[in-house]
Amino acid sequence: MERLRTLDGEAKLITHIGAVLGWDQETYMPPAAIEERGDQLAYLEGLAHEKQTMPEIGELLAALGSTGENPEGDTTLSPMDRAYLRIMRRNYDQATKVPTELVSEMAKATSLSQAAWAKARSGNDFPAFEPHLQKMVDFNRRIADCLDPSGKPYDVLLDRFEEGGTQAGIAAVFNPLRDELVKLMDRIRSRPQVNDDFLHRHCPEADQAKASSYLMKILSYDLERGRLDKTAHPFTTTLGVSDVRITTRYVEDFFPSSVFGTIHESGHALYELGMGPAPEYQRTSLADAASMAVHESQSRLWENMVGRSLGFWKNHLQEFARMLTPVLDGVSIDEYYRAINKVEPSLIRTEADEVTYSLHVILRFELEAELLSGNLAVKDLPGAWNERMQAFLGIVPPDDAKGCLQDIHWSMGAIGYFPSYALGNLYGAQFWDAMKDQGFDPAVAVENDNLGAILTWLRANVHSAGAVYKPGELARKVTGESLDASHFMRYLNEKYARVYGF
Ligand code: ZN
Repeated sequence: MERLRTLDGEAKLITHIGAVLGWDQETYMPPAAIEERGDQLAYLEGLAHEKQTMPEIGELLAALGSTGENPEGDTTLSPMDRAYLRIMRRNYDQATKVPTELVSEMAKATSLSQAAWAKARSGNDFPAFEPHLQKMVDFNRRIADCLDPSGKPYDVLLDRFEEGGTQAGIAAVFNPLRDELVKLMDRIRSRPQVNDDFLHRHCPEADQAKASSYLMKILSYDLERGRLDKTAHPFTTTLGVSDVRITTRYVEDFFPSSVFGTIHESGHALYELGMGPAPEYQRTSLADAASMAVHESQSRLWENMVGRSLGFWKNHLQEFARMLTPVLDGVSIDEYYRAINKVEPSLIRTEADEVTYSLHVILRFELEAELLSGNLAVKDLPGAWNERMQAFLGIVPPDDAKGCLQDIHWSMGAIGYFPSYALGNLYGAQFWDAMKDQGFDPAVAVENDNLGAILTWLRANVHSAGAVYKPGELARKVTGESLDASHFMRYLNEKYARVYGF
């Protein structure tokens, strides 16, 4: 077990060294360094892959009784050791079951596909991208077959991002959610709309940077263990156990972009910084997220349930107005609260509000599952996309660039990833309700400006566990029930009844 942790830890060292280079590339690297940096990163990735697929790892896993059928190994081991074997077996199988030739064949096809996608999107030319998308779908089918020839391909792909997740299980959660969201949208549309003009007043980058630092501080993001920089696309990256960094984007005529981006990424960083099931597992794959969706639950809980709440701004709007003078002059708390929670059906997922966002994701989930099963032909994607946009959001994209070509994921061959974005909302709301059930009301903590108490609860119940539990198990353990969209819907219905007055 110790040897296994050592080898795993060495692979993590390489990954974190690569993260330093990757972070630098996105933030401060001079542009001419890009090609050599690409070589450096590819070299490190190769090294990490070699480490992760060492036959010795396979031998150690076997010696500890871990097999495909019984990944947790010997029953005499401690629950934490058994969870670790499950994770290591999973990682090892995923890294070794797909033949190297297939991996490199797909890597080549993917870089062509991404280039074709970028061109097709800017030229609004879906037919130019279609053969590449077809290849990505085919590669995904082959990968699913390598990983688990007896499993349903989409389930196998999903499992890589949401361990234990299945198409049927997710559909059972998403279908009622979709119907409820469409109903809520109808109610919102029937009400007078919200004015958010003042959010577009000019706000200098330097002032927004001050506001971001202020936000990180009140969220208890420890700047001895992290930092904030500026990039075109915000992200969080882990460079080590005590080095988790975020970036944000400053849009001078829309300051909420940096405000909520910073809160969102801080939520991811707080999760990363709080992992640690036990000291001996600190630098191993057990100190990792339970899933992409659980990661997203942390960012969205802070961004939306805390950061877009009335209680939060009752405590902080005054200081904000001072930092951003004169942008918020003459804006009342009520006007501000309504503006930052404005709902509007829109074409682009990444710009969607809290209510419509999940609909964008459910649409992608349904379509990618149909593409993979063959129920939807690749050439028919634009039509199917537009039909569903009409059904879910009541709007139709004027072109494919603002429709099925908008996201990079499929061009990269990432199928099965999208559901994580919406599942995150659901986990977050369910954790929130679990706090209440356990006698601690997070909304009251927000009103009392006691955000630390929420972080403490999340640390104890969600963060510290790392990857010990599969995401579905984590939900059951923390909240006493399986993942259920009703918590999220109740939260949305209550909040937006207030924002839109119904
Ligand atoms: Zn995120």
